[in-house]
This record gives sequence, structure tokens and C-alpha cells, in this order.
Amino acid sequence: MQMNLDPLTVDSARTAVVERQTSASALVDAFYRKVEAEDAAIGAYLTLCKERAYQQATRVDALADKGDALPPLAGVPIAIKDVFTTKGVRTTAGSKILANFVAPYDATAVARLEAAGAIVLGKTNCDEFAMGSSNENSGFHPVRNPHDHSRVPGGSSGGSAAVVAAGTAVASIGSDTGGSIRQPAALCGVVGLKPTYGRVSRYGLIAFASSLDHVGPFGKFVKDAALLLQSMAGRDPLDSTSADVPVPDYLEQIGEPVKGMKVGVAKEYFGEGLDPEVRAAVEAGIQELAKAGCEIVPISLPHTEYAIPAYYVVATAEASSNLARYDGVRYGFRASEGKTLSEMYRRTRDAGFGAEVKRRIMLGTYALSAGYYDAYYLKAQRVRSLLARDFEEAFGAVDAIVTPTTPTPAFKLGEKVDDPLAMYLADIYTVTANLAGIPGISIPCGKSKEGLPIGMQILGKHFAEATLFRIAHVAEHALASAPKAVVKP
Ligand code: GLN
Repeated sequence: MQMNLDPLTVDSARTAVVERQTSASALVDAFYRKVEAEDAAIGAYLTLCKERAYQQATRVDALADKGDALPPLAGVPIAIKDVFTTKGVRTTAGSKILANFVAPYDATAVARLEAAGAIVLGKTNCDEFAMGSSNENSGFHPVRNPHDHSRVPGGSSGGSAAVVAAGTAVASIGSDTGGSIRQPAALCGVVGLKPTYGRVSRYGLIAFASSLDHVGPFGKFVKDAALLLQSMAGRDPLDSTSADVPVPDYLEQIGEPVKGMKVGVAKEYFGEGLDPEVRAAVEAGIQELAKAGCEIVPISLPHTEYAIPAYYVVATAEASSNLARYDGVRYGFRASEGKTLSEMYRRTRDAGFGAEVKRRIMLGTYALSAGYYDAYYLKAQRVRSLLARDFEEAFGAVDAIVTPTTPTPAFKLGEKVDDPLAMYLADIYTVTANLAGIPGISIPCGKSKEGLPIGMQILGKHFAEATLFRIAHVAEHALASAPKAVVKP
């Protein structure tokens, strides 16, 4: 079968299987052929799980042959960021310390996607323990941006964004602690959603910073992301922080007009450091929403400038605690030499963790240590409350807030590796939503002169994902037909 895989969406892939234009197994074959031909140049996959994929495809085909009604993601080939556990399949979190770790159970998000008929092709590359903004912190190899192989795909879910952009999976999932879904989505020109905290279970998500970690989808279009969220969302008894809030029908509102909706534009997100081309593209996106009948409301989120420092205190503190479990005893790699237990711990962690992970463990341990706890961790938590209050006040007046997703388009591999602070600033517009727990989506919004994708972020109230999809869908359609953004001199 010759099939052009590039235009496939979640919907059209499922339809092809349901209508028997292809079998799920043939579709999986076609995707693996593409992965084998094209992924070496990008490096987005760390592990392919063919046996599991074909087993699932056979199950879907058997249902289809019987003429049974098929589940909502039947036969849709997807990829999973390698921070989600997958039973019987290597799960590394992008780290050498877990290089040979085979998980004994499935993450809830993965189990739910498979229960909905999706086919997991493999596990995607990422920054080690999801710490990074460029995928260059992977313990294995970097990922290249499908739009320009000399540039980063963003991070930490760089592999999951790249497979969608490259068409080596129809859709994928990632985790977002400070921007790791939205930022790579923006840099790779795809859609990425970070839902509300608690909307999707974190069970089986290898923890980075538990109060900031979120699970969410990537797709080519808003509808793809909505379809994946629909199957993943909802209370899970295995994650006590998953929310017991009913899951609405996300598709129902997509396509509804947005006339009369109030869209906030915060001046703090359009200040110094914002690339002029990104600014022009996002402003053009906002104009399209205005044309569709949205009321554009200038707002202020006054504590925004404190978000990055607060994030890096909270995230590293939680990481230092979460990563204490990698001691060579319970999981993965163990250094062979070491005469005493503590020497074995030290050698294991020294050889197993990369430089950025060690930096964060040290920063976090420092921030939590007696005598500094109040000055750093407690203060950062207070700032976090102020940021959350900024959003609460803003959402008293608007339905959504539109910002750039990133300050610049994709940067070159190697450009920021020696400057952690410059790297941390890649998340300046995304970390606030993690600190406040509100949902955010990034959608493609034009390209730079060099042909690099630009992303526009839409933030919403807690559990207002349906509103985000609705606005994002309108913007996505308007932008597809809009004239290209012109950069003001
Ligand atoms: N880039 C941010 C960091 O390095 C966010 C990572 C993430 O969202 N997982 O912490």
C-alpha cells in the first residue's frame, strides 16, 4: 500500500482504519518504514516498540473485521515521551541512569490512549528527566528540528514535537513542567497543550517537579490535541492529585463562534527580549481573533517578571527530592566499584546523571537546606501565590489570554548549551501557567523570514480547556488563510 502519511490527522487516520481503506497493521508498517528512512536524521525516537504496536494493531483489525464499533482513537499511531512508563518497554527518561530500565507497569495516560485504540509506535527522546529547553540535555543524543536540522526542536519534549512535525507519528504526548509541551510545539510548528493541573493523571509519569508536572498532547491541529485529551483526562484513583472534575466533550465546542469572547493581552509578555518577528506574528494572530469578533482587552499580570526565578527554585527543590530515589539500589544503573554503600551511591549518581540534572539537584538541595528554606523555597512559594492571583484577577475580566509561546524561533544546536540562564529564559512565557496550574495551548502562528515556525500561546481558567480549543481552532483557521505577518521596521 502506498499512502501519504504526512497529511494524516487523528481523525483521518482513524477513518482510514474504520472504513478499511487500510488495516491498522498496514498503517503501522507504513509508519515504521518512514521512521526507519527518516528518523536517523532527526533522532526523535529512542525506542521503537514494534511487538506491542503490532499486537495492538491486530486487536484493532480484529474488531474492525467483525464490524464492531471502534473506539475513538482506533488505529491511530502515536508516540510517547520517554518519561512515561510503558510495561515491558524500555523507559529511560532520557537518562543514562535508566538506560536499561524496563518498566513493570503502564502510565495511566498511556493505558487510556491504548484503551481508546491508539497504537504506540515508540518512545521519544527528551531532555534528561525533562530538564531542558532544547533536547540537548538528553543522555543519548540531541533531537534536530525537522524544519531546519541545524536547530533545536525545543525541549524537554523535543522528540514528541519533532515526530508530529516530521510525520513519523500522527500525534504524541509529552510532559510540561515549565513549558516542555508548548515550547517545543511552538519551535516545531505543531499544536501542544498543557492542561490544567490534575486534569490528566501523572501516575507513571517519571517525576521531575510534582507540583508543576503536567501531561498533555501534541498534534498537527487543535482537534488532534482535543481528541487525545478526551481519552486521557479524568480522575484516576492511582494519582491522588488527579482532579475529580467531570470531563466535558471537548469536540462539541470546536467550531463554535468566538464572537463576544474577551481575550486579554498582557503587556508583560510583549516586552524586552521578544523577537520582532515573533511579536509581529502573534500580533497578527490577535488581529485575526479580533476579526472573528473577540474583544481584545489590554491587561496586566504584574508579577510576571518573578516567574522564572520562582520556577527555578520550586522546580529544582522538588527535583532534588524526587531524584533521590536513583541510588543504584531501586532502579536502573549501578556503578560497579565502590567499597561502601555511600560510595556506591556517589559513583552511581556521578556516572548516571548528566551535568544539568546534577546542577538542579545541587540548586534544589541548597534551596531546601536548613537556614535557606525560608529565604528561597518559602519565598518562591509566596511569589507563586502572587502569580496565581494575577491570573485570577485577569480572568475576572477576560475569557482567555494570548501571548507569544517563546521569545524567539528555534535557536541553533549548541547556541545556549554553555549558558544555562539564557536557556532558562526560553521558558519565560510558559512557566507562569505551570506555577498557577492553569491550562495553556500553543498553536502555529506563521513563520519567520528564515522559514522557522512561530507559536502563539492561549491561556485559560482552570479546567477551561474547551474554551482554549474553541479559540485556538478559530485562530488556526484564520491564520492558515491570513496573509503573512509583516515585520514592522
Ligand atoms: N525548560 C524548563 C526546565 O528546564 C521546563 C522543562 C519542562 O517543562 N519539563 O525546567
